[in-house]
Amino acid sequence: MSKPPSRMKLAVLTSGGDSAGMNAVVRAVVKAGILKGCETWVVREGYEGLVRGNQEGHKVEKETSPSHREVHIKDEGFIHNLRFGDGELLKDGTSDHPTGRTLKGRYIVRVGWDDVRGWFGVGGTLCGTARSAAFRTPEGRLQAAHNLIKEGIDALVVCGGDGSLTGADVFRAEWPTYVNTLREKGDITPAQAENYAHLKIVGLVGSIDNDMSMTDMTIGGPTALHRICEAIDNIETTAFSHSRAFVVEVMGRHCGWLALLAGVSSGADFIFIPERPPEADSWEDEMCKMIQRHREMGKRKTIVIVAEGAQDKHLNPIRAETVKDVLTDRLGLDTRVTTLGHVQRGGRPCAYDRIMASTAPDCPTLQGVEAVNALLESTPETPSYMIGISGGEITRVPLMEAVAMTRSVSEAIAAKDFDKAMSLRDPEFREALEGFYATSEVHEQPRLPHHTVSCCLHADLHLGVDPSSQRMRIAIMHVGAPAGGMNAATRAAVRYCIRQGHKPFAIHNGFTGLLDGEVNALSWLGVDNWMTRGGSELGTNRKLPDVDLGSVAAKMQQYNFHGLLMIGGFEAFSALLILEEARKSYPAFNIPMAHLPATISNNVPMTEFSLGSDTSLNALVDACDAIKQSASASRNRVFVVETQGGKCGYLATMGALATGACIVYSPERGINLNMLRDDVKYLKKRYSLDIKGKAEGRLVLRSEVSSNVYTTKMITDMYKEEGGKLFDSRSASLGHTLQGGIPSPLDRSRAVRLALKCMTFMEGHHIELLKQSGTSKRAPPESAAVITIQGSSVQWVPVREMVNHADMENRRGTDEPWRGVAELVEALVARPQILGDK
Ligand code: ATP
Repeated sequence: MSKPPSRMKLAVLTSGGDSAGMNAVVRAVVKAGILKGCETWVVREGYEGLVRGNQEGHKVEKETSPSHREVHIKDEGFIHNLRFGDGELLKDGTSDHPTGRTLKGRYIVRVGWDDVRGWFGVGGTLCGTARSAAFRTPEGRLQAAHNLIKEGIDALVVCGGDGSLTGADVFRAEWPTYVNTLREKGDITPAQAENYAHLKIVGLVGSIDNDMSMTDMTIGGPTALHRICEAIDNIETTAFSHSRAFVVEVMGRHCGWLALLAGVSSGADFIFIPERPPEADSWEDEMCKMIQRHREMGKRKTIVIVAEGAQDKHLNPIRAETVKDVLTDRLGLDTRVTTLGHVQRGGRPCAYDRIMASTAPDCPTLQGVEAVNALLESTPETPSYMIGISGGEITRVPLMEAVAMTRSVSEAIAAKDFDKAMSLRDPEFREALEGFYATSEVHEQPRLPHHTVSCCLHADLHLGVDPSSQRMRIAIMHVGAPAGGMNAATRAAVRYCIRQGHKPFAIHNGFTGLLDGEVNALSWLGVDNWMTRGGSELGTNRKLPDVDLGSVAAKMQQYNFHGLLMIGGFEAFSALLILEEARKSYPAFNIPMAHLPATISNNVPMTEFSLGSDTSLNALVDACDAIKQSASASRNRVFVVETQGGKCGYLATMGALATGACIVYSPERGINLNMLRDDVKYLKKRYSLDIKGKAEGRLVLRSEVSSNVYTTKMITDMYKEEGGKLFDSRSASLGHTLQGGIPSPLDRSRAVRLALKCMTFMEGHHIELLKQSGTSKRAPPESAAVITIQGSSVQWVPVREMVNHADMENRRGTDEPWRGVAELVEALVARPQILGDK
């Protein structure tokens, strides 16, 4: 008689179209599962593997794990073995890729901890995926149920798109029927029928389209956006050289997210997305009018992005080839079509996709562990859940609700109810579209300020205010060190200003430049290529205004600025604080002043993301992937990689999570002798558990100012000395390479979103000031504020309030939301278990 499994046996599969980050999901689920006391399995080739199951006669001989490769851990009250590499994937040892191995006839295979080592840096899905016709039939699903019961598996994690998740829900709903049928046919025993009466199932959204409702981002969407933007960045140089037009077709049958975000991030001229077709009866007229204007402004290149599922408002498909013909025939442009196709799916996952899919025990913030938790808590009464992300928080939503809502977008589009389709998309999607219009549209007459796109202001606010006085002279300045996205934000601000009839001015070289009179007007065309440029086009430095406050005020007055936008890091925040405090002495500072955080250190208090931090993380991931490859090439080697970040450990800590580093040193935690002793002990034990004869590279990330005594060199030398025959060590300093070259798409799109909000913030406060009577206007404290990202919402924090959350001495926030990630990094390498703490 079969007993119910003493511990949950959980299997994970990837299904539907592959997406970057699927391997990270499998790795995460396997590790979280093991640490939670589950037996972990992988199903190869998606649902197809579930239907095929394990054929008799193809059983892989199980090797007994050498005892020294087992570590006893105590978890949830009982002790069991944390196994290193004792799963079947490693058994025949011919290659690193399970799909490349001869697991012929076996689709449901047991996996151990080390079987998924290093997976999250690899694109696609190593378990394989398929579109299974058999699983769509009740017979196929019956077979799948039988195969799971035969292996004793009672919980399933499915990572795929809406089709795969629908399949998962159908499977679970019908499960009792399959169990009955199998029992009646005698394929399973009555005891098995009783023990496996309920299948626990949970879904994770792996899809490049970001088309799933009730989650802000699907796993693989950001990487696909990276691939698209890389391609468009390359195309743009050719388009510029030959003064050509390019029509770029991107994926997205029912969802325009990729086309929209690519349009925003690449500064395209026109986009076609399914949710919002052109309003004019003739899309041809609308597009040509806009592109004609851009050409009249002096643009040499034209980029039009077409989503696969684009259509006009009558639902006639809009094809890239047709767009090309229109541009050629009507505007006489030399036009080419590029269909990106599968290039979009490929390649290594970007930092965001690695982090989003990661996991750790007892950390409810990331998706994989939430999947395992949901399974452990599942009862026959609870629905199947989909794990998603909303406002930076991991969420559990009923799977079918999410699938139904996703379908309703397609239904709204099919019913030509585009407003409804847009309303079903999340607010960020709508803001991105507004951002695209604001930065690409050119009107013959500038709009009045009360046509602000983000309706953060009431229209009646403008009543009684002379429209011409609403036009502003807005100064834009970069402060501190350069960061990816600074130029993109400036471009968006300039374009918005011009559209609204304001005058944007550049202050070059920060406050020093202002004092030297390095100020000039910015033009629509002048900023055209800034979207993709790294560094700071305006020039920047770290000088604060208290270098000569009186003269700074005099200059502000001389140029008659009505608003000041500072884009930068902790210095920009400090500068804003100084200017706000000086308002009582200098009337010139009684204007709206905004700080848009941009720094690779991500050390501005109260915001989860500064511009540039994503670009930097990606630069770090690229460098570390290469370093790790080299470290694994010849012999066991630990690489100590030094990162920038000042006294804020964000970059090192999140970088460690994104690269699978095993140790991270940050300024917040500091370094002491006890830590180093434990680190050496951990490394020695870990290397001793590795398979003999197979070189392993490991990464240690050290933030540059973690300790003045225990330097990168000292730690590297100590590892080398202590590693003896087990491992040696080397160091690498990433230095300024972390500022990144071309800003990442996420930094660019965030730059546009935040810059436009900064502009509407200025407009609103400017009008409030205009309403004050008398000559000496008093700007309220909230008109000097920092724009922050908190969860999925954007919040303005008055600089006076911000200072309460700042550690001014160490130049970082006091309550950094990412601090717990260091423990997460350690959990992911089973450090407590290896050191014997658990
Ligand atoms: P992508 O977003 O990349 O298209 P997807 O998961 O939506 O991914 P699909 O091809 O729609 O991809 O679905 C993947 C598999 O899920 C199908 O091949 C099929 O085996 C299963 N599946 C989809 N819909 C159902 C359903 N209604 N019932 C049972 N199984 C289904």
